[in-house]
Amino acid sequence: MNNLNTPVLDDHLHLDPVNGRNTEAVEEFADHGGTHLLVLNKPSWGLGIEVEDAGDFREVFDLTITAVADATAVLDGRAWPVLGVHPALISQLLDRGYDPAEARDLMQAGLEVAAESVAEGPALAIKSGRPHYDVDAAVWEASNDVMKYAFELGAEVGCAVQLHTEGGEDFSDVAEWAEDRGLSRERVVKHYSGGRMEGPVPSVLADKDELERAVERGEPFMMETDFIDDPDRPGAVLGPKTVPRRVRWLLEEGHDEAVHTAHVETPGRVYDIDTEATLD
Ligand SMILES: [Zn+2]
Repeated sequence: MNNLNTPVLDDHLHLDPVNGRNTEAVEEFADHGGTHLLVLNKPSWGLGIEVEDAGDFREVFDLTITAVADATAVLDGRAWPVLGVHPALISQLLDRGYDPAEARDLMQAGLEVAAESVAEGPALAIKSGRPHYDVDAAVWEASNDVMKYAFELGAEVGCAVQLHTEGGEDFSDVAEWAEDRGLSRERVVKHYSGGRMEGPVPSVLADKDELERAVERGEPFMMETDFIDDPDRPGAVLGPKTVPRRVRWLLEEGHDEAVHTAHVETPGRVYDIDTEATLD
């Protein structure tokens, strides 16, 4: 057992085995009491891969799968891959001459590769969403179609879907799109969320104010850093030790129940993982 006497899960972090700190970042997380990680693949362009077909996504995902195996080796708990297609890829593809429908098709093909990895292992969940910046109507529609397809695939293989979207606190309509396709809203996670959220389950950025809001709200939530493991942008995001440090703070404030919610109960409901049983 770690020094915090509870599983500590970072629900969304990236590892870059090519240019980043990779396992060294995981060791820092573990040294501060972190035990479990959901590792998201970096966007394909962040790894220097110009995707043209489904096989190119496989190359992107394989890097994350290798990083996860190395991470698990140094954790008291374990890591799992969450694989998907970054919504901003659509803009990159348009710049390369794709029309919105062609971009949608390629992104959906990438999601199929991710879903396959969930069905056959080792991936735990799928990542999708829509651009967080303004795009024209055709691109918005194509992006929503990609996200809806992710829900369809999640329902089909029986896994959760993490979403990268614009900011906001009410995504009820998106949760309904998931339920229309057979995926419960309890299995839709809004990554980079604030403490309040309608619709999906919030994965709250480990900021004290937002965590206080999540604790006050008293609903299921998780915690994340969105650490990007990019040597060129060291201060751009929260570091890998932030979630364990915030857990220590929450425990000091007497929020033991909220810690259990965020690190045991909610991950169990959303991903069907047992962070207690998988802890040495
Ligand atoms: Zn991310």
